[in-house]
Amino acid sequence: MTALHDTFQRPLRDLRVSVTDRCNFRCTYCMPREVFGPDFQFLQRSELLSYEEITRLARIFIQLGVEKIRITGGEPLVRANLHELIRMLAPLPGLRDLTLTTNGSLLRSQAQRLREAGLQRITVSLDALDDDVFQSMNDAGVTVDTVLKGIDAAREAGLAPIKVNAVVKRGVNDHGIVELARHFHGTGVIVRFIEFMDVGTTNGWRLEHVVSAQEIAERINAELPIEPVERSYPGEVAQRWRYRDGGGEIGIISSITQPFCGDCTRARLSPEGQLFTCLFGARGHDFREPLRNGASDDEIAAMLRRVWSVRDDRYSEIRSEETVGLPRVEMSHIGG
Ligand code: SF4
Repeated sequence: MTALHDTFQRPLRDLRVSVTDRCNFRCTYCMPREVFGPDFQFLQRSELLSYEEITRLARIFIQLGVEKIRITGGEPLVRANLHELIRMLAPLPGLRDLTLTTNGSLLRSQAQRLREAGLQRITVSLDALDDDVFQSMNDAGVTVDTVLKGIDAAREAGLAPIKVNAVVKRGVNDHGIVELARHFHGTGVIVRFIEFMDVGTTNGWRLEHVVSAQEIAERINAELPIEPVERSYPGEVAQRWRYRDGGGEIGIISSITQPFCGDCTRARLSPEGQLFTCLFGARGHDFREPLRNGASDDEIAAMLRRVWSVRDDRYSEIRSEETVGLPRVEMSHIGG
């Protein structure tokens, strides 16, 4: 397996597959309702890559070094029969890690069949335990209890490890950081706190809304003493911390204050088959057209080599007042 490297010698290891641009939430930092309202033109079914097309691309990408696939969205569980895609991807030779990121609201009814289809582990977004705060952030009237019941169903189904992602926005939910850590302390669930990012162009991001990774760690350490842990592999997104009392781990994702572009091994496939080489990319590379116009596996592989070998993305390292307003793809379109 000839691993592909970009202009910074970063291998392609990690493919994030967004299976839909739709979501049943309207999180203010990702898909604000005033933009993604009733008149918003979402992709039509015929525009979406089919599960067969996604699986064919995945097989080719794995042959070029991808080892980990994360299914994302929008909200992936709103796409019909998602377990069928998992069933197609799970047996692919060379795929070491198959996971999924969800808002958890539909997980209770789907966890078992996702596990049976071959899903190994799962990440659930939960930004707060306080229902008013959570609902003000998801803007969809979904309760914390609904998501917690989804997490319980994932645990009962045997999905492990379970990670919980919480985007931290100053003045919105940062007062609940320790409460969230305490709730999952000793449960085996790993909470990952995410610095609020200037993703897309619709979330009104400003630096003063960011609570830094260091401040998050200090707040938790003051109540639940923690110590740093080595990253488990190069390119791992989260800084790892463990509780000194053996109560497990937390993670902190610090794209703003401690960028990690240096060993970023991630590519993102949009629902309509555009490949983005950075979360903050403005333009993707169309793989649907060749897929649907008879291109061979070798031709598609050659296309991927061309795209990745010239990759020079490192947005988080060059972020500045000037770059924040630049046009870029919406996170809800290509997943986090
Ligand atoms: S900003 Fe782009 S290059 Fe940097 S870590 Fe994120 S996705 Fe990778």
